[in-house]
Amino acid sequence: MKVITKNFTIESRKKIDFIDITNSVEDVLREVEVVEGLVTIFTPHTTTCLFINEDEKRLMDDLEKMLEKLVPIKGNYFHDNVDDNAYAHLRSILLSTSISIPVSGGKLLLGTWQNIFLAEFDGPRKRTYIIQVMGA
Ligand code: ZN
Repeated sequence: MKVITKNFTIESRKKIDFIDITNSVEDVLREVEVVEGLVTIFTPHTTTCLFINEDEKRLMDDLEKMLEKLVPIKGNYFHDNVDDNAYAHLRSILLSTSISIPVSGGKLLLGTWQNIFLAEFDGPRKRTYIIQVMGA
């Protein structure tokens, strides 16, 4: 069994940003030639997260709207006395810092409309995500 780990750096473009990273995951999978296995994607930050959904602009607007309703940028947060980004941490906790996707026949078993996103909540800045492929 192979285990391959790769680090990627991207620049988020704004304070709240949803970046489609599906191509980079597919590129890694092609490069490592794993046919059956598992891909894990992880973001090592406390104000980013990962999710899978459709890459559609208005849906991303709806997501931003939903997150603003659940965890508004301006709130009465204790952590804002430290570095003024409590909402970003809380949104990251609400979602997830890692996702796993099964691999079969050399392909990610994503559904037709599923794409992989890195969500930025405290940008713009340089961010890292890690792709680990395990399998044979
Ligand atoms: Zn903070």
